[in-house]
Amino acid sequence: MVAPYAVVGEEAARARLAAFLDRGIERYREDRDRLDLPATSGLSENLAWGEIGPREIWHAAAEAGRMGAQGAEHFQKELAWRDFAWHLMYHTPEIASRNWRAEWDGFAWEGDSDAAERWRRGMTGEPVVDAAMRQMYVTGTMHNRARMIVASYLTKHLLTHWKIGLDWFAECLTDWDPASNAMGWQWVAGSGPDAAPYFRIFNPATQAEKFDPDGRYRATWLAEGGRGPRRRLWPISTRCRKAGLWTPRGRRRALIDLADGRARALAALAARGT
Ligand SMILES: Cc1cc2nc3c(=O)[nH]c(=O)nc-3n(C[C@H](O)[C@H](O)[C@H](O)COP(=O)(O)OP(=O)(O)OC[C@H]3O[C@@H](n4cnc5c(N)ncnc54)[C@H](O)[C@@H]3O)c2cc1C
Repeated sequence: MVAPYAVVGEEAARARLAAFLDRGIERYREDRDRLDLPATSGLSENLAWGEIGPREIWHAAAEAGRMGAQGAEHFQKELAWRDFAWHLMYHTPEIASRNWRAEWDGFAWEGDSDAAERWRRGMTGEPVVDAAMRQMYVTGTMHNRARMIVASYLTKHLLTHWKIGLDWFAECLTDWDPASNAMGWQWVAGSGPDAAPYFRIFNPATQAEKFDPDGRYRATWLAEGGRGPRRRLWPISTRCRKAGLWTPRGRRRALIDLADGRARALAALAARGT
């Protein structure tokens, strides 16, 4: 399924880096969170497969910075997160399988369920969550901001164990990286090092308004209930439909009201005692 989307090989990785330094790095800091813009490098896929190394990217970005590229330093900071993840994985390999903070061990996460399956299939009824989950299923990739939104939705609104999300990402992502995946999931869930505090619960609706202001990202992946996607989007929608990710009857009812889900999560997480 991901074949038309993956950018494979050493040469392609170098071309990707060159294109990003040429066109993307200047506005990286401002635009990197926008779901609807191709504002990031896409290099995680090539890094994950060893087609390019972090040092090469780091030095190329440093050179771009010396030449005056505005976003270079910020890009280097993001790249450093990958190394931090591997540092954690080396010293605490259990980060991929257990709560990094042992005080989370008593928390009664939900296990696998119909709700988790609807999350996996992009059928929660929450537009930005469903768009992101379908994007990943079809293309093998998902924007970093979207990863945080769907991870927060699963672990906080649905109170479902982060391991269920981590396993599904491992199954779907072409940039799957055991260290960055584990760090990302435990950061969002709150159980990781330097993690998001338990009361930081992403609101998918306000996140979508902010980072997909014209709804273009959602319209690319969600076609239910509308008059059908614009012509150029048909191939994508056809893939979603073939993958069983699209119901012709219109949008699904939301699995959970966002305010109720937030209140339920806050109560459960506060009772845990941190
Ligand atoms: C729940 C969750 C799961 C994730 N799983 C993975 C995964 O399996 N594999 C993976 O490579 N990344 C993972 N990430 C991190 C991040 O989402 C991706 O690295 C990023 O989306 C890659 O896109 P890009 O190459 O265009 O990034 P750019 O914005 O261009 O960043 C450049 C490089 O910096 C590194 N980087 C950027 N942000 C992060 C981050 N938050 N953590 C670690 N490294 C980062 C990546 O190597 C990336 O290629 C995860 C994040 C979350 C929240």
